[in-house]
Amino acid sequence: DPSEVLNNKTHKDIVSEMRKEIIKTAPNRQVSDYHFLKVLGEGSFSTVYLAHEIQTNKNFAVKVMNKESIRREKKFINVLRERDVMASLTYAFGGHPFIVDLHCAFQDRTRLFFVIKAAPNGELYDLLKYMGKFDKDLALFYCTEIVEALSFIHKCRVIHRDLKPENILIGEDWHILISDFGSAKIVGDKEQEALETEEASQLRAQGQSRGSFVGTAQYISPEVLQSQCAGYEADYWAVGAILFQMLTGYAPFRASNEYHIMRRVMNLEYDFPEGFPQSAKDLIQKFLVIDPSKRLGSLDMGGFDQVKNHPYFEGIVWDEVKSRYAPSLL
Ligand code: ATP
Repeated sequence: DPSEVLNNKTHKDIVSEMRKEIIKTAPNRQVSDYHFLKVLGEGSFSTVYLAHEIQTNKNFAVKVMNKESIRREKKFINVLRERDVMASLTYAFGGHPFIVDLHCAFQDRTRLFFVIKAAPNGELYDLLKYMGKFDKDLALFYCTEIVEALSFIHKCRVIHRDLKPENILIGEDWHILISDFGSAKIVGDKEQEALETEEASQLRAQGQSRGSFVGTAQYISPEVLQSQCAGYEADYWAVGAILFQMLTGYAPFRASNEYHIMRRVMNLEYDFPEGFPQSAKDLIQKFLVIDPSKRLGSLDMGGFDQVKNHPYFEGIVWDEVKSRYAPSLL
């Protein structure tokens, strides 16, 4: 149980142990230990490949990042945090079937390599685009998995902060794999908090209000858009927006540019279409609440236990969610 691990150690200790653990897992790993099979996707300073690890005879997703591009974009902190968070979730907290595992990490002179569990069935975003929208059962299936994975992430005292259909990958077995911990917050990490406070004040001085979240306001909670300070509730806002999108095929807050999307988020300007299922509507309305302390999922509102007990999840046996059968969709 993550809370037992955290009773004995701070996150900082865990992260420094994990750094050693990653090196131990695959000592002297290098790029020639892999056969690169195909490109799975591209990020702004990364390419992700499906690659075969010769020693273990297993396939992995290998995220390759150019150090110079990371430096240019000033993203070193995010990249290292992504590695540390994935490593601690995997090694210190035992991993979770709905979250990408970090197998190992290594570097050469110009590049960083993260070897991650592969998600061969793409992104929830693509699946949703392909299917148009999900029926009630499929939306409930994926929403349950997202909430289950989030409860684990939160127990590990991590906030994802950038949950969206592009970051929810679909594994080989058609279960979700939450990825992209580059914006994650380690709760209680004073160094991270100090850095982010300074970054936010610099941005404010330049007349900008947002930091590293450009391009994803559709799922970002109002408190994060405003100040970057976020509690666990920020992730439940995203679940509300994603559930809305799964059932309609479009995000609740839409506009022609980021500025207008942000305004709609801040003013809670969205509408349910006719015939929207009632219990899903009620859950979304309880997640899309401007005041984080009044949002379902916040500690003040009873945390994860209250989310689980919402009528939308009636009939879900939470202890069995990890071992359920997933429908194959393509
Ligand atoms: P940005 O850096 O611009 O925010 P990103 O976070 O999506 O982009 P990456 O995490 O490098 O960048 O991922 C790039 C693409 O590779 C993603 O769009 C995703 O579809 C794919 N991808 C990432 N991780 C995996 C994985 N474990 N298995 C399969 N595909 C993956």
